[in-house]
Order: sequence, then C-alpha cells, then structure tokens
Amino acid sequence: MKKKITGYDYGECEICDTSMQEKRIKQDFWIRVELIVVENVPAGVCPRCGEKVVRADVGRWITELVENSERIAKAPRISVPAIRFYPEEVKV
Ligand SMILES: [Zn+2]
Repeated sequence: MKKKITGYDYGECEICDTSMQEKRIKQDFWIRVELIVVENVPAGVCPRCGEKVVRADVGRWITELVENSERIAKAPRISVPAIRFYPEEVKV
C-alpha cells in the first residue's frame, strides 16, 4: 500500500515557531567512505530559519535507500568540489 507523502502538515518550526512549508530537498549521507545524495526528499522547511524536518516514515525509507547497494550502483554520479583544509593557510 502506498502512503500519501505530500500534503502533510509539518506544523510549526521548533526553533522559531514559523509555519513549516512543504518542499523537496536534497539530503546528503556519508555511508562508509561514499557520499550519497538523496534528491527530491519531501520535507518541512522553515522559511525563516531554514530548519528542516523529515517525517519518520520518510526518514526510514531514506535509510533503506542509502543501504540499497543495487540502487546505489545504478544511480547517476555527480562530481562535487573537494577542498583540502590547510591549517597554515588560516588567517587570524
Ligand atoms: Zn524556524
């Protein structure tokens, strides 16, 4: 049975009491040494402070997705900038 994912009332932001808006967001996870991005995740986003909340059932499904090695193997690859931190460059 498919659950209704959209049209959920996320209520108010825990931090600033503003009404959360339903958006689709990207979430990133480090699974062992691999960075995995899950796109199009339904979430409540606070328009004021940017706080994000994901429903528990959506969160559980994401956990299954990021542990599904077959699905990960088939997923398109993106490249991301990897910047190295050099302590001696830090300006004080
Ligand atoms: Zn907020």
